[in-house]
Amino acid sequence: EAGRELLSDSDVGRTIARMAHQIIEKTALDSADPAHARVVLVGIPTRGTTLATRLAGRIEEFSGVRPAVGSLDITLYRDDLRSRPHRPLERTSVPEGGIEDALVVLVDDVLFSGRTVRSALDGLRDLGRPRAVQLAVLIDRGHRELPIRADYVGKNVPTARTEDISVLLREHDGRDGVYLRQE
Ligand code: 5GP
Ligand code: MG
Repeated sequence: EAGRELLSDSDVGRTIARMAHQIIEKTALDSADPAHARVVLVGIPTRGTTLATRLAGRIEEFSGVRPAVGSLDITLYRDDLRSRPHRPLERTSVPEGGIEDALVVLVDDVLFSGRTVRSALDGLRDLGRPRAVQLAVLIDRGHRELPIRADYVGKNVPTARTEDISVLLREHDGRDGVYLRQE
């Protein structure tokens, strides 16, 4: 059972398009000023990376500039790593041109406690020194445990801790959609 629909297939497409416009506006990606920072999207696997790739496509469509896309596996940076089995950093890929002095937009599907983003900030530190870091998430479900907030939010969804957001993306699931499920 899929649960209660929060975003339909077409809602997801519209939401990603809106976020792309917001990123362009806030980062002045289409600015003629040659001094403006290079924008780089860094997704948190798996669905954050897929969303980053989609955002890059829309940003290119709307602004004429395609931001580089990278992927950051935060497994090694989780503060609970010692209790987890070792796994290689297979899903980290540094965006073309690196992140040095870039405006990095981290991208994830769901923002919850904020611990994943905190780990991603640790991970970025090993890749270089960006000029600034922003955060884009498709869903903010609340329950933050750290002082972390998103700069771009597709949809704010107040949830109970016992609930779970199900994010379907065409590339993985055959269609787009966001659902709220009881555990
Ligand atoms: P946090 O680290 O902020 O507690 O959790 C965010 C990370 O866990 C994200 O990478 C996200 O994919 C995953 N996550 C947390 N809660 C949910 C949820 O309700 N649904 C989905 N699909 N992912 C979640
Ligand atoms: Mg995740």
